[in-house]
Amino acid sequence: MAVFGIFGVKTENVASSTYYGLYALQHRGQASCGIVVNDDGVFHAYKDSGLVNEVFTHRLLKELGLGQMALGNVRYGTSKSKERVNAEPILINHVKGKMAISHDGALVNYAELRREFEMQGCIFHTTNEAEVIACAITRERITAPSIEEAINRAMDKLKGGYSLMVMSPQKLIAARDENGLHPLCYGVRDDGEYVISSESCALNTVGAKFVREIDPGEIVVFTKEGIKSIRDHCDKKPERLCVFEYLYTARPDSDIDGCSVHLARKRAGKFLAKAHPVEADVVIGAPDSGIDAAIGYAEESGIPYGLGLIKNKYIGRTFIDPGQNVREDKVKIKLNPVPETIKDKRVILVDDSIVRGTTCVRVVKLLRDAGAKEIHIRSSAPEFLNPCYYGTDIGSKDELIACKYSAEEMAKIFGADSVGFLPLEDVFKLGAPGNCKGYCAACFNGEYPTDIPVEQKNKYEQKISDNKN
Ligand code: AMP
Repeated sequence: MAVFGIFGVKTENVASSTYYGLYALQHRGQASCGIVVNDDGVFHAYKDSGLVNEVFTHRLLKELGLGQMALGNVRYGTSKSKERVNAEPILINHVKGKMAISHDGALVNYAELRREFEMQGCIFHTTNEAEVIACAITRERITAPSIEEAINRAMDKLKGGYSLMVMSPQKLIAARDENGLHPLCYGVRDDGEYVISSESCALNTVGAKFVREIDPGEIVVFTKEGIKSIRDHCDKKPERLCVFEYLYTARPDSDIDGCSVHLARKRAGKFLAKAHPVEADVVIGAPDSGIDAAIGYAEESGIPYGLGLIKNKYIGRTFIDPGQNVREDKVKIKLNPVPETIKDKRVILVDDSIVRGTTCVRVVKLLRDAGAKEIHIRSSAPEFLNPCYYGTDIGSKDELIACKYSAEEMAKIFGADSVGFLPLEDVFKLGAPGNCKGYCAACFNGEYPTDIPVEQKNKYEQKISDNKN
């Protein structure tokens, strides 16, 4: 999931800039997207299921019209939550006015909060957490002197990992959870418009220069009078940036906590080469997120990097599954080997992660069919052993292959010659030294930075079994 917003004083084509910002953040969510334009306090909104360029036509963007501010979101979803009604931003009319809300992440006390509010008569129209967050804010707004103070008070109740944006008629507000689990930064354009984004790559796309990250627990308020920072929730908890942002989630051309994601991935590849060396002729990367680590592996090992697999760039949500009974090979539609790189070679295949193991089984067959002599799989993430409750879609323990099998057993299952994972201690060294004060690596080491209420664990297990049915 990703948030994106623009704040200016002049009337501009903010819908179009938000469209391109969301387009740059599409990798963070493909289920639905939405844009709300604020023109002198009047909100114009459109959201739907689908990719950014499928949902927003030229005509729709024109209809959203000009404005001084805009808020956007891309969202990924699992079976139930990807329903159209869950698309963001969510628009709320409350007793003190209106607001639009967009978020990235997940609350660990969502079920608890929702029940508390429902028992007091609140009605929810979606299963989206942003609606519960909006409810927490609007309840505080009844007595709080401003929307930012209402957010500040609501944050006492919100537990988990979230990057949040709220647009009121006059203000655009960005906030990050106390551990800073997900990234959020802002930049400025030459004309003075502020741009707030989950990742810095989208700032570059719309011509904004990076200013800084929003700190863990910080609320930043953009108004006509200037920028205000509220730090009541800062330094309350240790910083715990999700390390999977570096390994998989973020785009390589983004910087997080002062570190290029591309360099962090290359570093992972170098650590991997040191931990799991093997004699081979070529190092290839699984497109797209395995490529940076493959380059790092090649640099460290001295084995040449080769272009071994090509991914069809036009595969998106609209991919039509050919089903079981047609001749087309599903894997080959998405991914095709380059025989000149593979044939008669000892190949090291670097992928960003092994979750269920299904990709590895398919890719190994693809490489064998293309004539690979040996195949050594290297994962630039450590073994996935635990579910994530903060918004990364990782399966439950019974789906995670590393919970059941050793690397040697996995190699047999995949039909590979060997399998090696990034050592756990190395994930804490991926970012720029001294910048980030700490990482969440709970999916690898089980050390969650927050309590996980039993109710949320049950809800999670329920979600997983719904997806299986
Ligand atoms: P698997 O086939 O289940 O082992 O999944 C591993 C592949 O899925 C890797 O190649 C990743 O690029 C990709 N992947 C990793 N994490 C996620 C995620 N949270 N959502 C979607 N894909 C993922």
